[in-house]
Amino acid sequence: MELENVIYEVSDGVATITLNRPQAANAQSHEALAELDQAWQAADRDPAVKVIIMRSNGKHFSAGHDMSRTKDDAEPETWPAEKLYDWEMRGYLHYAKSWRAVPKPSIAAVQGKCIAGGLMLCWPCDLIVAADNAEFSDPVLALGICGVELHAHTWELGPRKAKELLFTGEPIAAAQAQQLGMVNRVVPLDELETATMALARRIARNDAVALRMAKRAVNHTLDLQGYTNSIDSIFDMHHFGHARAQVVTGGIPVLTGLAGMKGKGSNKGKGSDKGKGEA
Ligand code: ZN
Repeated sequence: MELENVIYEVSDGVATITLNRPQAANAQSHEALAELDQAWQAADRDPAVKVIIMRSNGKHFSAGHDMSRTKDDAEPETWPAEKLYDWEMRGYLHYAKSWRAVPKPSIAAVQGKCIAGGLMLCWPCDLIVAADNAEFSDPVLALGICGVELHAHTWELGPRKAKELLFTGEPIAAAQAQQLGMVNRVVPLDELETATMALARRIARNDAVALRMAKRAVNHTLDLQGYTNSIDSIFDMHHFGHARAQVVTGGIPVLTGLAGMKGKGSNKGKGSDKGKGEA
């Protein structure tokens, strides 16, 4: 496996998947996402792996999706609506759903900022350990959309906090995320790695099939309550938002409000923070 943006390691039954783009605050390029998926698949296939850790190097867990560039295509903000829909379905949404479905326990270790698409790296995991400086946010109403592609907000936070997170765009701190049940444990930043590994090794002492069935039991319960169906249908609301924003602004607005944009044509190239924290 040749990886440029991700580090994949296996030791003592624990696979560690590390997103390694600290220079970009771990914004998720298309290539990085494909490599993350390769690593998840490798962990799934390897019988020596019983538990998976998803983490990232650097100050921040992830600044979200990086749409600023693709290897062999135009910038996504110039894509027609159907092409964007197709990519976000096959890329963002499918990745998140398939990582959730890997039949082995997974733990996300989150430090610093976890913005928008960053949530789609930790929410698919079964457990979340947060550093005491972790902050979770989804400030994408400014792009005209109702949250990131994976609408797990209501399941993760409950309806009122989900609405507050979306309406205000303000972050939820680690301690509050733990109170809400979104985070399992909060630890000092310098203990994040060791605490996560200790938890993974504790879980890995159990029987692999029993772990698999325990995970399946909880996820199946959520699915019977409508988890996957609601996420699939809300994905289309998300794309109504993208399509409308394209019509109003002439392109996908990047971290800017829709108000006053009409008639200004394409905003391509607008904004110094282009491509960071993108949805
Ligand atoms: Zn989107």
